[in-house]
Amino acid sequence: MDQAKVAIIRVHEYDRAQIRCALEEGLALIGGWNHLIKAGDDVFVKINHLSPPSPPERAIVTHPVFVEAVLDLLKETGAAITVGDDIPASDEDGFRISGYRAMCERAGVKLVNLKQSGFVKVRCNGQRLETIYLAKAIADADVVINLPKLKTHSLTLFTGGVKNLYGTIPSGLRTRFHGDYPRLDDFCQVLVDIFAVAKPMLTIMDGIVAMEGEGPAGGKPRNLGLILASQDAVALDAAAGRIIGLDPTQVLTTRIAHERGLGVGDLRNIEVVGERIESVCLPDFSLPASAAGRFVNRLPRFLSQFFLRLLSIRPGVVTRNCVGCAACQNACPVSAIIVRKGKAKIDRSICIQCMCCHEVCRYNAIVPMRSRAGRIIHAVMNAGRRLLAASA
Ligand code: SF4
Ligand code: SF4
Repeated sequence: MDQAKVAIIRVHEYDRAQIRCALEEGLALIGGWNHLIKAGDDVFVKINHLSPPSPPERAIVTHPVFVEAVLDLLKETGAAITVGDDIPASDEDGFRISGYRAMCERAGVKLVNLKQSGFVKVRCNGQRLETIYLAKAIADADVVINLPKLKTHSLTLFTGGVKNLYGTIPSGLRTRFHGDYPRLDDFCQVLVDIFAVAKPMLTIMDGIVAMEGEGPAGGKPRNLGLILASQDAVALDAAAGRIIGLDPTQVLTTRIAHERGLGVGDLRNIEVVGERIESVCLPDFSLPASAAGRFVNRLPRFLSQFFLRLLSIRPGVVTRNCVGCAACQNACPVSAIIVRKGKAKIDRSICIQCMCCHEVCRYNAIVPMRSRAGRIIHAVMNAGRRLLAASA
């Protein structure tokens, strides 16, 4: 694969009619989807519905109005459509909190929690995984449509089209892989192994309101007013990363998927249609604290090791916010957290800094932390990045 096309279209708000027009324009620019989807095909629409469930205004989940506009067009193809993600089973209906339950009822489309529809063992012959348990709804689908949210991620820097497919395997395995593959490059190989098996035919990213800062759950919503669409999720991630100030080589999922021939991660070989990428870039987009570490990798080894130690992030508990719900304790792959007297406590000696606890805490009680020296270096590097971007 040596050439790809990504459409970037402006949409200012979550207005279904406006989004529909933008989607029609974007799809037309990348060749439409009539050659991908036939009447009667089983189409699975993979949303990004992070746990714990949250309302769409927090910019943690793919916005249901965005998905509803995609469904409006998809229904015209005559396909049999299922929407879903793997979300925790609890007394409360997570899909109700995010608005998906009401939206799918309105649209007359089936909504599934992958946990309930089951998983099947499939061969993946990946770099790290030989086989994987994949959601049955995905394994059985004729076409997978991937609808990620444009968000930062405190571990992988960026949640995009490639990483969104991690939600197609059981949540217990997702947690276990953090423990089995504590090195970021190994873990990203696993993410790419799963992406390669789930094989989305089309990726459309909700970047109307993105998340900056400490995503995927603890960052801040930021209005970008953009939709991106491509048949190549790797190229889409490269373009989306560039918009928020990330070089594709910094985002390991993009770099690895490119190196493995699963898509085009080199912007020189990506044709951007619709908006010019330079006109939508945001030099002041706030990246997660972990981003600074990637810049340091370009220094000589002895210097980079020194700076990486200073810049490394670890989870810290904001005790006043902690309600003792134990979600972090249950999510920790190495049992480094215990909730005592209603407050979470982290055993730093065994923590592998995977940040799963940060991802699942819905009370902003777990935050990425670094040393004072690390904070200063990070602030200086961020200021430098913005200056460079502004003068480019
Ligand atoms: S830190 Fe967050 S997830 Fe953990 S017990 Fe406290 S509130 Fe719950
Ligand atoms: S304490 Fe948090 S960051 Fe550390 S290993 Fe557990 S889940 Fe990962």
